[in-house]
Amino acid sequence: MEKRLIKKDALAGIARKMAGDFTVWAPLKKEDNVLFAPMGSDDEPFFAYLNSKNAPKNIFFPHTETMMKYTRTPQGMVFSSEVNKADQSVLFGVRPCDAHSFVVLDKLFDQEKYKDQYYIAKRLNTTVISLACVQPPYDTCFCTSVDGQPVSPEGADILLTDIGGDYLVEFVTEKGEKLAGYFGDTKADEKADAKKTEAAAKAREAIKAKIPAHEVKPILDKNFDHPFWDTIHRKCLACGTCTYLCPTCHCFDISDEVVGADGVRLRSWDSCMFPLFTKETSGHNPRPSQKERWRQRAMHKFKYYIDMFDTIGCVGCGRCVMYCPVNIDIRKIVDDISKL
Ligand code: SF4
Ligand code: SF4
Repeated sequence: MEKRLIKKDALAGIARKMAGDFTVWAPLKKEDNVLFAPMGSDDEPFFAYLNSKNAPKNIFFPHTETMMKYTRTPQGMVFSSEVNKADQSVLFGVRPCDAHSFVVLDKLFDQEKYKDQYYIAKRLNTTVISLACVQPPYDTCFCTSVDGQPVSPEGADILLTDIGGDYLVEFVTEKGEKLAGYFGDTKADEKADAKKTEAAAKAREAIKAKIPAHEVKPILDKNFDHPFWDTIHRKCLACGTCTYLCPTCHCFDISDEVVGADGVRLRSWDSCMFPLFTKETSGHNPRPSQKERWRQRAMHKFKYYIDMFDTIGCVGCGRCVMYCPVNIDIRKIVDDISKL
C-alpha cells in the first residue's frame, strides 16, 4: 500500500482542486450542523468535525431518487431507465464508522443474487476518502463494540490520519491510487507509520462506551415474545429520527407520480418506526404498536442482519443516541437484552 505525507493545511486545497474535476461531497458547516453536501466553488470544507449530522449514505442511497420515467403515447408506453446515471464523485473526509457503514450496506444492495443497480452505480463511481478519528470522540461513540475502529481503512479507498503537523495518506484500493496525483509526492517513512500506530492506539482507548453487541444474538434468537419488549417503547414518538440519521438503515418505499401522460417512479426513504410502514391495504398492520416496531429495529440490527449477512447492522456512530428527542439509548437496550 503506497503511503504519502501532506501538510495538514493542504487538505482543503486538495478537496477544492478535486471539486474542479469531480463532484466532491465534503463536510460543510450549515448553520449549527455539519452536513455532507456537494462542494461549490465558494465552499470551505470543515474537517475539524467529530461526526456529521447526516450519515453520508444518501450519496449512494438518496432520500428520493428517480428510478425511471415514462410517457403514455398513442403507440403505447415509452420507458426510460435512470440506472447508471451516477456522476464521477469523491466522498471526502468521511469518518471511519460511516465508511464501515458502506461495507454493511454493500451486503444488502450488492448481493450475489439481488443487485441494486442504482446503489451499485453510485458506489462504483465514488472514491471514499476516510478521515481517521484521532481527536477525543463524542461519549456516544461506540464503534469498537461493533467491529469498527476509530482509525480504520475499512470501506475507504484512501485513509487520512492526522499524525501531528501532517496527514499520513494511505492508498487502500486501486480506485484510491488513481487519485494519488492530488496528494503531492512526499513519501511517508517508518516514523510516520509509528506515529499513526500510536495515534490509533490512543484513539481506541478514548472510546469509553462499550456494549455487548456480540452477546445478544443468541438471546434475541429465543426471546421474540419476551415481556422486555413491552418496556422499551413507551416513550418513543415514532418520529423516525433514529432511522433517518442512521448510516445503516435502508428501508424505502416506491411510488409513482403521474401528471397527464408523464410519470416518474421514485424510491424514497421510509422508516420501520412509522406506523404506516407495515400497514397493509386491508387496514391490517402486522406491527400494530411501537412495541413491535422497536423490537423490529433491535432485532434487525443485532439478529436479522447477522442471520442474513454475518454482520452486525450497527456501526456505533451514536447518532440515534444523540438525537432521539426522548433519549432512547440503543446502547442501554443492548445492555438490557444481554441480561435477559
Ligand atoms: S428517534 Fe427516538 S422517539 Fe424518534 S422514532 Fe427513534 S426511538 Fe422513537
Ligand atoms: S443504530 Fe444508532 S449507533 Fe448504530 S449505526 Fe445506526 S444511528 Fe449509529
